[in-house]
Amino acid sequence: MSTPETDLDRLTHVQARIRRAARDAGRDPTDVELVCVSKTIPASRVEPLLAAGCRQFGENRVQEAAEKWPKLRAAFPDLTLRLIGPLQTNKVRDAVRLFDVIETVDRPKLAAELATQMAREGMKTRLLVQVNIGEEPQKAGVSPAEADGFIRHCREDLRLQIEGLMCIPPVDQLASPYFAQLASIAARNGLHRLSMGMTSDFEQAIKLGATEVRVGSAIFGAR
Ligand SMILES: *Cc1c(COP(=O)(O)O)cnc(C)c1O
Repeated sequence: MSTPETDLDRLTHVQARIRRAARDAGRDPTDVELVCVSKTIPASRVEPLLAAGCRQFGENRVQEAAEKWPKLRAAFPDLTLRLIGPLQTNKVRDAVRLFDVIETVDRPKLAAELATQMAREGMKTRLLVQVNIGEEPQKAGVSPAEADGFIRHCREDLRLQIEGLMCIPPVDQLASPYFAQLASIAARNGLHRLSMGMTSDFEQAIKLGATEVRVGSAIFGAR
């Protein structure tokens, strides 16, 4: 009789796939970080991953993260919590207090509020700009055509440090061309972090330069 697969078994498998994809692409596997996407997953299932050494986690809702993470962070102060879902301006203060990285900076009003609240709270939250790489009306993010101007606005007018770009390509399409496009927008703006690749396409993303892959269901099972 075989025992059922655990989150830790699946984690080990994902880590091995990341290492192999990096080596196949001629990259150093330590240059690709695994962000475990723990949205909808209770703290009791996150703890074993922390105990196994995972330190990068992604959540898509401020409220859910506020309920789940303060206790986990008390036990594991060196963890990095990343907001990967849309952020409303009225939640910016909470987000700046809770998250180490906000990956979804996508409009001038939000960028301005981040600048204000980071200054007020004395926080140096790390920021990524989300690009709506497939120009899909239902998705957040600045359009590829507006990306350079928006990054310049964040840097020059608001004095925000932007460390990279994030995207979610269209489903049911080959993701590689979108990843390549995000990498080229980053390169021409002198940005070195690329958050791209999820369960269905993280190997393609690593091939095209991802520095963070955000993986949920390959670790925790289907939500
Ligand atoms: C849910 C989510 C992921 C993880 O998706 P999986 O397909 O489960 O790996 C990655 N990025 C974002 C922005 C998400 O909302």
